[in-house]
Amino acid sequence: MQATMTHDATLSSLTGLDLRPLEQRLRGTLLRPGMATYDSARQLMNRAVTRRPAAIAQVADSQDVVEVVRFARDRGLPLGVRSGGHSPAGYGMVDDALVVDLSGMKRVTIDPDARLARVEAGVTSGELAAFAQPHGLAISTGDTSSVGFGGLATGGGIGFMVRKYGLTIDNLIAAQVVTASGKLVTASEQEHPDLFWAIRGGGGNFGIITEFIVRLAEVRQILGGDLVLPASREVIRGYLDYVADAPEGLTTIAHLMHAPPAPYIPEARVGEVVLSILVTWVGDESEGQRAVAPLRALAEPVADAIAWMPYPAIFNFTAHQAVPICHRIRSVLTHEVSDEVVDAALEAVERVNSPFSLVQFRGLGGAMARVGREATAFAHRDARYMVTLLALWMDENEDATPHRAWIEAVWPAIRAIGTGAYVNFLEEEGHERIRQAYPLPTLARLAEVKRSYDPHNMFRFNQNIAPAMSA
Ligand SMILES: Cc1cc2nc3c(=O)[nH]c(=O)nc-3n(C[C@H](O)[C@H](O)[C@H](O)COP(=O)(O)OP(=O)(O)OC[C@H]3O[C@@H](n4cnc5c(N)ncnc54)[C@H](O)[C@@H]3O)c2cc1C
Repeated sequence: MQATMTHDATLSSLTGLDLRPLEQRLRGTLLRPGMATYDSARQLMNRAVTRRPAAIAQVADSQDVVEVVRFARDRGLPLGVRSGGHSPAGYGMVDDALVVDLSGMKRVTIDPDARLARVEAGVTSGELAAFAQPHGLAISTGDTSSVGFGGLATGGGIGFMVRKYGLTIDNLIAAQVVTASGKLVTASEQEHPDLFWAIRGGGGNFGIITEFIVRLAEVRQILGGDLVLPASREVIRGYLDYVADAPEGLTTIAHLMHAPPAPYIPEARVGEVVLSILVTWVGDESEGQRAVAPLRALAEPVADAIAWMPYPAIFNFTAHQAVPICHRIRSVLTHEVSDEVVDAALEAVERVNSPFSLVQFRGLGGAMARVGREATAFAHRDARYMVTLLALWMDENEDATPHRAWIEAVWPAIRAIGTGAYVNFLEEEGHERIRQAYPLPTLARLAEVKRSYDPHNMFRFNQNIAPAMSA
């Protein structure tokens, strides 16, 4: 795409640096403030966050990433990394920095016989699902089609089939990584195994991943969709008691929320407080019906939109999430959700100040729990649930104070049950919360790998593991 220049092309208005040497070496495009596509390129999924980088390098391939990293390293420039732009903290853009934008790197190559895919970092969950479907293959990624593979698959990846196939990182075979020294290396069990361990849960701390090689599973059709139940303590309790020990083919994500005007929800019930359970069953259809039956038995459904469908169709149920919106998030991984927390969540949703805000419950366990605690940097393998508060509002000019206050009122109750945190669901919440994302031995090992691969903390605009960090 040809960008329109509106000011001196040789200087970044924010740093005064001559960027031409970099521009000349790139196959992609270097955007600076004032160029026509600069503002759309710096847009993030969390519209509550606005950042103005000095320049955005829209890279075309791994070599471009190498060039940007070397350029930044040689000049000591702050360097940001963006793939899909979904970081709740808005880490995908950094004020006054040079940002590597991998969102244009969208090549996917599938070897159907080996059931392997090479996936560039800018590919989104929905794109990958659509690409793999004709081969009868899939991988468990995020719950929203627009989530970028780059950030998802470095933090963990808790997806629609996590109980059946584990985290996204559990299916990672190898990755191409540009390190802080500007080298492109392969990380796998055989090559740079310490780096390979760290990038599976350690986030963007260790380098920029340009391409992932992942194992796919045979998934053509699923029993999937939305089961909407009237919300009550008994229904939520029944849901929680069932889902973490349900047959492994069944993964669910439940939203305690005001019923949205979805086409399958009766008009008269829109706005009612409901538990909307997104269901994904992988396996035989009639077995799936049996697995879902205990959920259907919890209450007379407000709506039952569960059907036999191609796997990518499940993303239709979260299509409204794939648009930029303002949000604030607080989340815990936990072993148990007490009745007090259920009551607090219900009360919070009943008095919510935005029709979009919600409490999310995810049942975990299954394949995710069978991977060893030391096997990857994501170590909270024994968590049975993830509980997440999401304040959501549309207008970035709206005063965020009431939305923040809504979160703050219920957060202490949720926080108290936390046994860990998921790094991809953190905002900028301080070191204490990063420590909750990693048990102490994991954190110590991450800091050690950081010292080897990024001793000067070049990759620091993230949930940062500082080289000097001690457990
Ligand atoms: C609507 C929505 C739904 C979500 N649903 C889920 C879900 O179901 N399951 C789940 O697990 N998570 C989910 N997430 C969280 C998501 O996994 C994280 O936000 C993740 O960081 C998104 O990746 P991204 O590439 O889009 O983000 P970006 O904002 O582009 O990147 C975030 C950070 O990740 C790192 N990073 C990104 N790309 C690379 C790369 N190529 N190499 C190295 N580091 C990189 C960098 O530190 C970067 O700053 C969701 C988020 C949103 C907003």
